[in-house]
Amino acid sequence: MATIPTHTSKTIYISYMCDHSCVLAAALRAHGMPAEVLPMPNDETTTAGMEFCRGRECSPCMVTIGSYIRLARQPGFNPKQAVLFFPTAGGFCRFGQYEVLQRDILDQLGLQNLEIMSPDAENSYQGFGQNPTRLRQLVWQGVVAVDLIQKLLYEHRPYELKPGQTDQLYQASLQRVVQTTEAGGGKQLHLAMQDIAEQFEALPIDHSKPRPLIGVVGEIFLRFNTYSNLELIRAVEAIGGEVQLTTMMEWFYYTNWVYLRNSRTRGQRLEWGKTWLTDLYQHYHEHRLVKPIAHLLRHKHEPPIARLMNNIRPYYEPRLGTESVLTMGKAIDMQQNGVCGIINVMPFSCMPGIITAGMATRLRADLGNIPWLDIAFDAQGGTNITTRLEAFIYQATEYQRRLETTHTE
Ligand code: SF4
Repeated sequence: MATIPTHTSKTIYISYMCDHSCVLAAALRAHGMPAEVLPMPNDETTTAGMEFCRGRECSPCMVTIGSYIRLARQPGFNPKQAVLFFPTAGGFCRFGQYEVLQRDILDQLGLQNLEIMSPDAENSYQGFGQNPTRLRQLVWQGVVAVDLIQKLLYEHRPYELKPGQTDQLYQASLQRVVQTTEAGGGKQLHLAMQDIAEQFEALPIDHSKPRPLIGVVGEIFLRFNTYSNLELIRAVEAIGGEVQLTTMMEWFYYTNWVYLRNSRTRGQRLEWGKTWLTDLYQHYHEHRLVKPIAHLLRHKHEPPIARLMNNIRPYYEPRLGTESVLTMGKAIDMQQNGVCGIINVMPFSCMPGIITAGMATRLRADLGNIPWLDIAFDAQGGTNITTRLEAFIYQATEYQRRLETTHTE
């Protein structure tokens, strides 16, 4: 695992992946580490990344590196006073190599003094910060809270009576979650979720015309980064669908599952016990935070990781790992819980994404031929998915009708 220095004076810069990045920065600040989230990437970010990448990297890598290059080029930027945040993970996916590439690019730019902070998925991101347990607990609470307000957003926005109102409420809720995380989370975050629930409850919505529910699975960066996925969720909503987005918390639970499995195989009982307790703690806080909003959520809450892994066992060995096991396991779970279509998002040439797309025909055959759309995004901004999405939503609507007819027979 890479060294994770704890800085109290240097600013930790976090490239904007998604709104969860904001709670990570807030938790770091709460622990006395100045932290800032960089602006949402745009075309200039991609161009800056492409200038230094070799063309074989995945788009999230180019976008993330581009964000840091733009930061480093800002007038007055002092590399000695900055740290770049870049989590890593092992396995056969390229992700584990990007920290090395990033270091190489920074050196080429003459920024040898600029440090990179890299917590590692291999050990479930342990050892993160000077008081890692407390920091991880705070990050966890913030991440779960953002996942939950995003659930509220996607379940309400397609049915809102006043356009824009749900987005406004979501932004205000996000601010509240970030501020409360920075203030230490805990009971205050629980109270914040109660207030947020009351505000969502008061939103004027109309559920009289149900929309086909579309599960979005796949590569984590693209799922959440609205610049890179060309605002996929809004595009689905604009043509009549409702989206159920795979959450961020699922990845953390998966890293626990991997670490538990590895420590059991290696006979590391103490490590196993610590991770088991962490997992228990995380579930406890998740349930505490869900409670105030549970009555507002129409769709089933998060399935356990063990169930997702069992789902895919007939098709693929979970030990082979990468995001593809989560993606496939989740797609099966979604179909079993009323989703009428699956969109699998992936960066162009993403290794886990290609595995999932390759398995999709077999999965679909066992899932009543559920409509399934693989979308590869290439950071060129021109995936031109509208026509494919329209055909897909039509198929999902037909699938929904078929399901309803079967249930009423
Ligand atoms: S998951 Fe896909 S996009 Fe992400 S680093 Fe791995 S290969 Fe690249």
